[in-house]
Amino acid sequence: MVLFVSSKIGQGENKKGRLVIISGPSGSGKTTICKQLMENSRIRRSISYTTRGRREGEKEGIDYHFIEKSEFEKLINENKLAEHAEYCGSLYGTPIEPIKEAIENGKIFILAIDVMGALQIMKKIPEVTSIFIMPPDDETLRQRLRERLTDSDVDIHKRLELANEELKYSKHYDFCVVNDQLDDTVKKIRGILNLS
Ligand code: ADP
Ligand code: 5GP
Repeated sequence: MVLFVSSKIGQGENKKGRLVIISGPSGSGKTTICKQLMENSRIRRSISYTTRGRREGEKEGIDYHFIEKSEFEKLINENKLAEHAEYCGSLYGTPIEPIKEAIENGKIFILAIDVMGALQIMKKIPEVTSIFIMPPDDETLRQRLRERLTDSDVDIHKRLELANEELKYSKHYDFCVVNDQLDDTVKKIRGILNLS
């Protein structure tokens, strides 16, 4: 994939766009952190395709593009995805076009994606800045997933099991940030991205 992306650190306003990956176990806080980062008008977030069912409160085209497996396979065959991966039995993928558009328009474009998808992007676009969000500890992660009230006990169990595997991939990322106090986490990430 040919994209003109600037280097990892040290970019100001009016510079070329930049691609940023944010990964971390389910419940580590990626969505919450992205929402806060998006208060800055230079930040945009990729909206993924997924075959997962829509959770209560999620909106089509805002949280995800919710599609059937056959439609997802069509997107893969038409080379419309920058990466894709299976997570807890559902497919997730990042559309290519919005990345190109955001980078051309000087935006900092965030992909909140799983570790398998992240590795694909790191290989294709080495200039990407990658940030891994760590939960403070296992018990806090379990509690946050429970309190989010979006997943069944079975799903929470699956996601916690996967979390231990995902943590092993944190060493592939440029930065690891422990999401203990949300304000501190967001401040650290703004620092990494040189945002005020
Ligand atoms: P992810 O997108 O990584 O799956 P979420 O952003 O949905 O995770 O966060 C999971 C839950 O934890 C949400 O209910 C969110 O409000 C809460 N949460 C996120 N970060 C923190 C934090 N630093 N302290 C307390 N609760 C948090
Ligand atoms: P959730 O079902 O909790 O919304 O997301 C499950 C996992 O899929 C999370 O780790 C999330 O970051 C990841 N994910 C979301 N969109 C994508 C995507 O487009 N590609 C990949 N590889 N993972 C994604």
